[in-house]
Amino acid sequence: MQVTCPNCGARYAVDPMAIGPSGRTVQCVRCSHRWRERPIAPAAVVPPPRPVPDFVIRPPSYNSGLPALATPATKTHWWRWAAGAVAVLVVVLGIAVYALRDDIREAMPAEWRVVLSTDGLRTVFGR
Ligand SMILES: [Zn+2]
Repeated sequence: MQVTCPNCGARYAVDPMAIGPSGRTVQCVRCSHRWRERPIAPAAVVPPPRPVPDFVIRPPSYNSGLPALATPATKTHWWRWAAGAVAVLVVVLGIAVYALRDDIREAMPAEWRVVLSTDGLRTVFGR
């Protein structure tokens, strides 16, 4: 930039960085006059402050598609497992009761045996 002495009109070529963004007191070599030299334009010396972003976006990483949706955590359907376990238990118990039906009948009181046999049911319901 060019600095001109307001007293004697002498001209000097000065690096704008030497003046700085807020200006500087300079002195003329010829007449020893001192004055405060202001920068040409603050924007020419100091770059404008960069706007502060509200948020920072980043380039997508490998294999990340848009929109970025988080995969939901796989739920453990415990009630399905419980229902399956109950079903298996019922089947196993049914097989066990059928296989041990004679032993169970022997262990029961006599009056129950009448009810549990099909003939006994006919006598109970009168058919
Ligand atoms: Zn001067």
